[in-house]
Amino acid sequence: MSDHHIHSVETVIVDLPLRRTQRFAAVGAQSTAVVLIRVMTDSGIEGIGECCTPSGPWWAGESVESIKLMIDTYITPHIIGEDVFEIRGIFRRVDRKLFGNAFAKAGIEMALLDIQGKASGVAVCELLGGRQRDSMPCSWPLATGTAEAEIEEAEQRIADRQFNIFKLKMGFLDPEVDVVRACAVARGLEGKASVRADPNESWDEATCKWALPRMEDAGIVMIEQPMARWNLEGAVRITARSKAAIMLDESQCTVQDMLRIAQMHAADLVSIKVMKSAGLLNARRVADIALASGTSLYMGTFLECSIGTAASMQLAATFDSLPYGGELSGPCLVAEDIAVRPARYEDYELQLEDGVGLAAEVDEDKVGALRRDRTYSVHAVGSKNADASAAQS
Ligand code: MN
Repeated sequence: MSDHHIHSVETVIVDLPLRRTQRFAAVGAQSTAVVLIRVMTDSGIEGIGECCTPSGPWWAGESVESIKLMIDTYITPHIIGEDVFEIRGIFRRVDRKLFGNAFAKAGIEMALLDIQGKASGVAVCELLGGRQRDSMPCSWPLATGTAEAEIEEAEQRIADRQFNIFKLKMGFLDPEVDVVRACAVARGLEGKASVRADPNESWDEATCKWALPRMEDAGIVMIEQPMARWNLEGAVRITARSKAAIMLDESQCTVQDMLRIAQMHAADLVSIKVMKSAGLLNARRVADIALASGTSLYMGTFLECSIGTAASMQLAATFDSLPYGGELSGPCLVAEDIAVRPARYEDYELQLEDGVGLAAEVDEDKVGALRRDRTYSVHAVGSKNADASAAQS
């Protein structure tokens, strides 16, 4: 029993404009939204967490609106008064009251671990097994739609020494056209960058049979979740036959998913993400099962801003081997951020910040200006941020 008990939980939806359109197989987005979570203890420590979805509920069924509602109505009433060091017990009880909603649960857990770190004077990575790295090679999403624009954007990122790994989002075009585009991008960046592709479940196995060999020949080194998340048998076959590494993302959320993937050898690597696995501790368990089966790890993202990215980086810091790096690039995609210190990218790698807890801090002015429920005070109306955000909604 510690001296730190949950006193209150606050959730705020914040709308953030993107720097450019982000195409996914299912949607094209100009803005995103996050839920900022603040948990206060009766001992006076505040923990923060961030939830987001990749521009809407298409990935997991959860949205920022549902996350806020689930936390406010179905999680908060059950955790007030609980000891922040009893995370396992807290979530065993929450799970009995609330099925699913992994993203909402992850946001609360993130804030509780932030408090644990602050109360103990250590970073969250020390609570998850210890720091194994100080930075992580980071991929940039190419997601605008034409090969020329993708190559131009990639070359600029390489010149800026920000990113030299690129993940091409696919699936929003006809496969014939899409594969020609992907091969053109890979050939255009040959020798300059590592190119990977993510059709986000858009293809059937018949499409994979002709598309994957063409993409491999063009130099694409890794292909993520080409088929539907339920099709693990198909994933076994393409993993066995493909020269490029096959990564599963949507297929792998829970520890049980990971166990099946490991037993079947349905992937060469898996994308570890904090929110889809209901939190940092579960994501760490998923990673351990993957490693025990010889499946490699990759640090994935839902394009969180700098607070959620800091949490993911705390987890990534505990992974000694990330053969394909990761993709915690959300802070570069949003035009506005809500952290005092934006995520730092140096020499193509995201840097782990020193500090206790998540080592992240909320920018109160930005939250005031961009929160969805803001009242139009003189301050908010006068700010450029408020205007930009209002134009998006
Ligand atoms: Mn993915």
